[in-house]
This record gives sequence, C-alpha cells and structure tokens, in this order.
Amino acid sequence: MCNSLHSYIKAVCSARLLTSLFGLALLATGRNVALAKEPPTKQFDANRAYNYLIKVCRIGPRISGTRGMVEQQNLIVEHFPKFGAQVRFQSFDVTHPQTGGPVRMNNTIVSWHPNSKRRVLLACHYDTRPFPDRDPDLLKRRDRFIGANDGASGVALFMELAHHMQSLKPTYGVDFVFFDGEELVYGKNDQYCLGSKYFAEQYRTRPPPHRYVYGVVVDMVADKHLNIHKEKNSLKFAPKLTHSIWATARRLKASAFVPGRAKYDVNDDHIPLNKIAHIPTCDLIDFDYPFWHTTRDTPSACSGSSLVQVARVLFQWLSNVPRPVDR
Ligand code: ZN
Repeated sequence: MCNSLHSYIKAVCSARLLTSLFGLALLATGRNVALAKEPPTKQFDANRAYNYLIKVCRIGPRISGTRGMVEQQNLIVEHFPKFGAQVRFQSFDVTHPQTGGPVRMNNTIVSWHPNSKRRVLLACHYDTRPFPDRDPDLLKRRDRFIGANDGASGVALFMELAHHMQSLKPTYGVDFVFFDGEELVYGKNDQYCLGSKYFAEQYRTRPPPHRYVYGVVVDMVADKHLNIHKEKNSLKFAPKLTHSIWATARRLKASAFVPGRAKYDVNDDHIPLNKIAHIPTCDLIDFDYPFWHTTRDTPSACSGSSLVQVARVLFQWLSNVPRPVDR
C-alpha cells in the first residue's frame, strides 16, 4: 500500500436510520446472461449488474464521511427494500487520520429473513480510498479516485443479487454488510478495516440474538479479466468454507475461481471477522487487478459478466450452505 500526503476536506455525513422497510420484488428484465445451466428464476443479468456499478461510480468518490458516501447510502436504502430486505445502519465515530476531527462511520446492514437466528454474512467495503496513490503517473496520485472495482464492485454485486434473494430457500438468514472505513488511508500508519473491526468488536462484546455460521467478503470482483485465487488467511481460518465455495464454482464452471493453491495473503475485512468475531470468513478478491489504487480503476476496466459469475457462485453456495464445523 502506498502513502498519500494530502488531507481531504471531510464532510460529516448524517446517516438516515431506516428499519423495517418492505417492498415487492421487481421482475428481472433485460438481457439475461446464462453462463451455465440454471433455471430461469436464477438467471443473473450482466448488463443490469454493470449498470449498477456505473450508477455507483457516477456518484463520484465515496470516501468515508463525505457527501458521496451519504449519496451511496441513499441508493442502498432505496434499492434493497424493493426486494423485501430490511436496511439498518450501525454507526460509530472515528478520528480522521489527517484532520484529527470526528468522522461519522456507517456500516450498512441489509437483512434477508431477519428473524432467523442462524445467519450467513456476505460483506464488502463500500468506501473508496481518498486518492489513487499507486497511479504510475506521479502527478495523478492526488487526483480523483472512483474505485469501480475497488469499492463499487461489491455494491453492484449485492444489488444484482437482491433480485434473486426471494427465490432463495432459506437455509439460513442472510445479511449483506457494507463496511465503511476499509481504507480511509492517507499514510502508512493509518488503520485499515475500521468498519469491520467495529462490527466484529460489537458482535463479540454485545452479542446480538443471532449468530453467523459463516462470512464471505467480496472485494475487487468486477475485473474484466477476473481471477480469484484462494487466499491464505481464508484457508487458515475457514478452510471448509473456502473449499466449499471453490467446489461450487467448479460445479458451475465459473472459471474466474482459480483452482489450486492460495496465491496471496491479504489484509482485508475478513481478518477482524475471523480474529475478533470468530466468524469463519473467506475473502474473495482478485488481487491481480492492474489498476488497483490508480485513476484507471474505472467502469471500463470492469465487466458485468465477472460480477454475475461471482453472484451465481454465491447464490448457489447460499442454497446449500455446508454444515458449520470451521469453529
Ligand atoms: Zn483499495
């Protein structure tokens, strides 16, 4: 990870607390992309998924505590209840690493079958890094960063998945969790994963009435040339879960999931979930993305087909979650 030296003017966002919203499922429309055999109700729409990614990117930067982040939260609050999910915020404050002032953080939690006491957590981070501080052009390292893959991809994936959640047979309740503050990072001493750390600490110290049997984090899953290798910490903390996801991918011929050994050791939101909350959690990340933390992390580097490939694997995996023995 590289450093960035400039401070960013923050705007403290006012989050809206929204609970108990219900709505009707929308009918899937548009061109359906069938990557393998699946019944019509499970078809995912690559164009629609890609359009969600564009919609998120059009907001501009979604840095924690800024107006862009609030706008994105509004988008989430409008979207998921249309499919029958409940949306709520988990709010907390951190100290801005540059200004020293408070930053209001909001993890957003989208719940399906909210009364189920045993649940599966699917998560992504939805904040964007303040600057493209790995751009090969040194002059661009303080430019605007919109994080199409690193930020918007997880949001777009969950927005597409929402179209299918009502047809899922509820083995477990499911929560989509959007973590704030994964990379409110300007310098090498700044902390990563603020939202997932807070979420994990709360889960441990103030246990909710439900328990998570597994967690899956998605990060950078929209690359046109998607390659998801197994990740070392995921195999260490959640081997059965990780293998079950790759087995599902193999059955679906989802070639973006590379078989074989782990390639990277990634510090992502799955670390606090594993280490603090003790939820066996796997990280699905394409860490070979050439535009990582650069100005070229834009929708043109991304693909809806990549998004729906991951969505299909997750949906199929959710339909038949293995018995939790990782812990
Ligand atoms: Zn990043």
